[in-house]
Amino acid sequence: MVADHAVRQVDEDTIFGANIQAQKSIAQYGFENVINSTIGALLDDHGKLITFDTVFETLRKLSDVSFAAYAPLSGISEYLDTTIVSAFGNYKPDGFIEAVATPGGSGAIRHAIWNYSNWGDEILTSDWYWDPYNTIATEHGRKISVYKLFDDHMNFNFVDFEAKVDELLEKQKRVLVLINSPAHNPTGYSLSYEEWVNLINMIKIKASNSENKIVLFIDIAYLDFCEDDSRRFFSLLGGLPKNILSLVSFSMSKGYTFYGLRSGSIIGISSDKDVAKEFKDVCSHSNRGVWSNGTRSAMEVLINIYKDKELLKRVEDERNDYRRLLKKRAQAFIEASKEEGLEICPYKDGFFISIPTTDPVGLSNKLNKDNVFLVPLEMGLRFAVCAVSEEKCRITPRLIKQAMNT
Ligand code: PLP
Repeated sequence: MVADHAVRQVDEDTIFGANIQAQKSIAQYGFENVINSTIGALLDDHGKLITFDTVFETLRKLSDVSFAAYAPLSGISEYLDTTIVSAFGNYKPDGFIEAVATPGGSGAIRHAIWNYSNWGDEILTSDWYWDPYNTIATEHGRKISVYKLFDDHMNFNFVDFEAKVDELLEKQKRVLVLINSPAHNPTGYSLSYEEWVNLINMIKIKASNSENKIVLFIDIAYLDFCEDDSRRFFSLLGGLPKNILSLVSFSMSKGYTFYGLRSGSIIGISSDKDVAKEFKDVCSHSNRGVWSNGTRSAMEVLINIYKDKELLKRVEDERNDYRRLLKKRAQAFIEASKEEGLEICPYKDGFFISIPTTDPVGLSNKLNKDNVFLVPLEMGLRFAVCAVSEEKCRITPRLIKQAMNT
C-alpha cells in the first residue's frame, strides 16, 4: 500500500535489537551474570535509568497548565536564549545567533538535513557514526557519505576529510557536514581545540570560492558530560564567511536526563544577519510542518533552572557526580584493554567506547554466548560505559579478547 518513495528496507534498529537479546539473557541468567552494554543512556550499577533529582524536582513544581499548554511554534523565546547559554557557556561565538526548539538533537539533525541539502544530496559524516544519521538522511531522500575518522596514527584524518569535502563541493556546490564532537558516539573521540582550528581554517579556504556553501552541523548530544574546556572551540564559529553556516544541536536528553521528554534546539550562527534570519524562518516553518511545537514543560524546566543560580549549581553538581562515575567506568575499561592488548578507538569523553573489528556481527554473536552484549556496528563493536558498572567494565576487555582469539 505504501507510496513509491516509502518503499524501503525497514531493518530492526541494531541498538534496540541488541538490547532485546540482552534482556532475554537477563531474564534467564540474572542481571549480575549478564553484561548489557547496549543502552545509550546513563544507568546505575544495577541497570536502572539514572534521573537527576534536581531536574525532576523542578519539573514537579510546574503547574498543570505548563504541562498541558502548547508552546509557541519555534519554542518559548526565553527557552531558546537559555539553550544558547547552556550550549556555549563562556565561549559564545560572535555573530548573529538564532535558535528554534526541536524534539531533542534528533529534531535538529532532521531540520539541518532537510533545510540545508537538496533532494538526493550526499551528507558528509565520519565512517564511525551514529546509525540514525543514515535513517534520518534516507527518510528525507538523502544519502550519507563518509570520510575516514582516523588516520594511521588514530588522529583526526584531515586528508580524507578534505578529499571528501572537495568531492562533494565539486558535485553539489554545497556540503552539509555532521560532526559529533565532543564525546563522539560511538567512539568517545573528541576533536582537540587545535584540530578544530585546523578544520575551520580548512573550510574557510573552501569557502573562498563564493559559489560553495558549507554547513557545519555540530552534534553536541554528550557535551554536558565533558570537561568545561570542551566548549572552547565554539568561539571559533564566530566571524566566518557568510557562505559558512554553523549549526549546533542542543539536547536535554542526556545533560538533564530528559530523554523521553523530547526537548532540544537547533542553534544557527552566522556572520550575516540575513542568513541567520533565513535559518530561523525555515526551521520554524519546518517545526509547523513536521511536529508543530515542542514540549512546554521541558522548556520551562530549563528556564527555571537557569533563572535560579543556586538551583543551576545543584543541577551541575549532581551531573558532575555522574560525570565522575562515567569517567571511572571508562578508565576501568581502557586500563583493562591495555592489559589485554585489546585495540580500542581513541576515547576522550562520553558514553561509549568502540572496538574495531572486521567481523562485528560474528564477534558480537560469540560474546552473546558468554552473556556479553555490545552493539555491532559496520566497523566494530560499541561498548556503552554509560550502562555498565565499573566492575563489568573491567572484565569485558578480557572477554572480548578471548572471543577474538577463539
Ligand atoms: N546525536 C547522537 C550522536 C546521539 O547519540 C543521540 C542520542 O542518542 C542524539 C544525537 C539525539 O538524541 P536526542 O534526540 O534524544 O537529543
